[in-house]
Amino acid sequence: MNRKQFLKSLAVLPLAGAGMKLHELSKMAESLGSTAKMPVLFLGHGSPMNAIEENEFVAGFRNIAKQLEKPQAILCISAHWETKGTFVTAMERPRTIHDFGGFPQELFQVQYPALGSPELAKETKRLITKTEIGLDDKWGLDHGAWSVIKHLYPEADVPVIQMSLDYTQSPRFHYELAKELASLRQKGVLIVGSGNMVHNLGKVAWNKLNEVDYAFDWAKEASEKMKGFIAKGDHQALINYASQGRAFELAIPTPEHYLPLLYALALKGQKEEVTLFNDKAIGGSLTMTSLKIA
Ligand code: ZN
Repeated sequence: MNRKQFLKSLAVLPLAGAGMKLHELSKMAESLGSTAKMPVLFLGHGSPMNAIEENEFVAGFRNIAKQLEKPQAILCISAHWETKGTFVTAMERPRTIHDFGGFPQELFQVQYPALGSPELAKETKRLITKTEIGLDDKWGLDHGAWSVIKHLYPEADVPVIQMSLDYTQSPRFHYELAKELASLRQKGVLIVGSGNMVHNLGKVAWNKLNEVDYAFDWAKEASEKMKGFIAKGDHQALINYASQGRAFELAIPTPEHYLPLLYALALKGQKEEVTLFNDKAIGGSLTMTSLKIA
């Protein structure tokens, strides 16, 4: 129910809500009304093992959650859900998807039982004019979402929906689409992009995985340039990542881990600041660099 529908329903209240007490009414208005503007996060998720390991990155996720008001719901744009067309998960109880192979059994046993939010899915569909949003009842929570949100809210007590990445669309499309989500921030919704700014699995230095902040020169170069563009607010340069030279080509061999960054940046207000955390490389060709926009 949006505000307009809510007001409409108030008009028929003498009939419909005959038994409703005043404090119940005001409580209802509260849950639908505006909240303080929620920050936006981009989280570098890295290896699925971060879901069950204890390390400085998961400590970083926990720490950032402590700085936020507890959201009423989360909308997550994960690198791991690519579709033709844009969808939002609209089921009551999203399943935990173990969308990876070759990891210990322990990781496959992780369940993250957060509820979905069919209401938020419908509200998101209603908000977006740039494209038709499909309501999905098959996906769930992939590891791009649960492996990080698990550290933000270990009790799984915040409903989560996901929005997919339309792989047929341009970076600019994604950036413009994300802008249409802005009003959700005032409805207690935490928008989380989950990917990695530098992400080239084909070039991982597997023998250097335990060496934190080990980066190839090109990875360092791309990461520094990206952070420079973010600091300057030069989102156009980030949207045009394909024209930024060799280091960017190596850092972004495929767009899915990078695009969630554009979703987060698109939501940055003029006066808001970007704070970096977990700003380290791993395995030479990945960066865990994460952002809080507030
Ligand atoms: Zn990933």
